[in-house]
Amino acid sequence: MANANGTVKGALDYLEGHFGDFQKTLVELSRVPSVSAEGFPPSEVRRSADAVADAMRRTGIENVEVLEIPGVHPYVYGDWLHKPGAPTILLYGHHDVQPPGRPEKWLSPAFEPTERKGRLYGRGTADDKAGVMAHVAAVASYLESSRDVPCNVKFVIEGEEEIGSENLGKFLDKYKQKLSADFIVLSDTANFDTGVPALTYQLRGICQVDVEVRCLDHPVHSGMWGGPVPDPVQILSSLIAGLQNKDGSLNIPGLYKDVAKPSKKQLKRIRKLPFDEKKFKRDAGLLEGVKLAGEKGYSVYERIWTRPSLTVIAMESHPIQGSSNQIVDSARARLSLRTVPNMDGRKAGGLLVKKLTANPPDNAKVTAKLNGTTPWWTTDPEGPAFEAARRALKAGFGKDTAMIGAGGSIGFVQPFADMLGGAPCLLMGVEDPPCNAHSENESLHLGDWRKVMRSAIHLYDELSRVEVKPRR
Ligand SMILES: [Zn+2]
Repeated sequence: MANANGTVKGALDYLEGHFGDFQKTLVELSRVPSVSAEGFPPSEVRRSADAVADAMRRTGIENVEVLEIPGVHPYVYGDWLHKPGAPTILLYGHHDVQPPGRPEKWLSPAFEPTERKGRLYGRGTADDKAGVMAHVAAVASYLESSRDVPCNVKFVIEGEEEIGSENLGKFLDKYKQKLSADFIVLSDTANFDTGVPALTYQLRGICQVDVEVRCLDHPVHSGMWGGPVPDPVQILSSLIAGLQNKDGSLNIPGLYKDVAKPSKKQLKRIRKLPFDEKKFKRDAGLLEGVKLAGEKGYSVYERIWTRPSLTVIAMESHPIQGSSNQIVDSARARLSLRTVPNMDGRKAGGLLVKKLTANPPDNAKVTAKLNGTTPWWTTDPEGPAFEAARRALKAGFGKDTAMIGAGGSIGFVQPFADMLGGAPCLLMGVEDPPCNAHSENESLHLGDWRKVMRSAIHLYDELSRVEVKPRR
């Protein structure tokens, strides 16, 4: 393997010499406000796709194109396929971002990437433009140093991950042939800690339900009518409060019936991980004295990775500003339910709808509807591809890899794993616990980012020696 190692060394040296250039490109990409959510200009997501495509072309990645499906935020594709007989790696990331949140909470503007104390602050700097750029940089380092990569590589950079990959099915149907591969590497997850790499082998799914309570056909004076006339806001609040039992479990009949018990192997894996409650609270940003919530009898990691949970992600009736002594006519909330193996998202959503609409207090008009679902995903992280990834991460970080679950959802993983007939999915990311992804002051730890790039360089080399199943 002297030859392969020589190539690896060349790529690592190139990376060290040009890290600043890759950072500049990341800054350029992060300046584009590619928010995929409704109400933000889709033209910016398109501009972002073009910028990612340009960054890829500049490095020698070939066949770069912006993939279009009418009405869908554009995806970006690119490849380098000059290694006949070697495996093909599909590298996944996304270039769309979450909305910036409250501008006054940002210490530097969301779309003006700013470096402070070894971290690059800005929306998308970590999630997931750094994930995209880590692999662009790793492939570029090979191509620039030796015009050669140990494996064939294909990039697919999604434009609608942050809104649940709604059109992924359509996209896969159209581009199935183009995306065939032996391994999938996704860089959109978190590491166990700053400086401690992780491979993620389980993700929760999600289902979203909107609920509305209506009692009146118009708001009325709260003094003249208050008492006998029911208040939709209080009814909605009581319905939401009723979804939780005293022991922290969810009060949704039938919900836990399909929840899989983690295997002994998985429990052992989870229990091996160190847990520091103080640090966990600090990383989450919990205020002094606030206690942890959730189901009794399960460790914090078990609660986040292996148990369903419910969050009220929006609630509206009347804003405080401009409020007056009224009973408002209606109130609404959006609930987000995280699902785990072996729950069915649609079924879970149906149970939640049923619970909310059965026996409404005061016979109020309660309607609830399921908006959409994203599936959970799990894999058995054993075998040569995972061993190769662990070696690569150890080489990049100088530390052993933590095997973790994640509470979040990535809609892309399950459909892709299915399409590729069970090809190993390696989820290695750039985020660390204090990165504030999805919140204000999102940031990337630049030292870890460099380690991920180094790991990626090792990974392509490691995977080139893993025997692959003949493709279906
Ligand atoms: Zn992401």
